[in-house]
Amino acid sequence: MDDDNKKILEKIAKRFNTEESCLEFLSNIKWQNGFVCDKCGHTNYCKGKNEFSRRCTKCKKEISSTAHTLFHRCKIPLTTAFKIVYLSCVNPDISSYSLSKKLQIRRMTGYTFQKKVKHCLSKENSDPFIEALLKELSS
Ligand SMILES: [Zn+2]
Repeated sequence: MDDDNKKILEKIAKRFNTEESCLEFLSNIKWQNGFVCDKCGHTNYCKGKNEFSRRCTKCKKEISSTAHTLFHRCKIPLTTAFKIVYLSCVNPDISSYSLSKKLQIRRMTGYTFQKKVKHCLSKENSDPFIEALLKELSS
């Protein structure tokens, strides 16, 4: 199991090696069926201030690719967050201690985000971002 984890963590690190690659992935999933402004419902957009965010051309609201996802206001790098999502999915009982040790992050940091992931996993409808991430990594 540990060897498997190591392999997959290397795979994640390779596929998602920068914050940008994570943001790009999230924005592709988020707007896979097209852009809809969550303020006014308009479907035209232009590029936002930040890379991979979009701005509604009608009301000018800027929507980041992490808004309304479990990665919203994430305090850790997305590259690490993706690893936590994966590890928590395949090992639901993984402790925040081993999580923090594996990823070399502070235990509280790992614990806080892991709690968010667990909450998402416990919901009736599966989270589209978690689903997409698992699919991406299994291919
Ligand atoms: Zn709008």
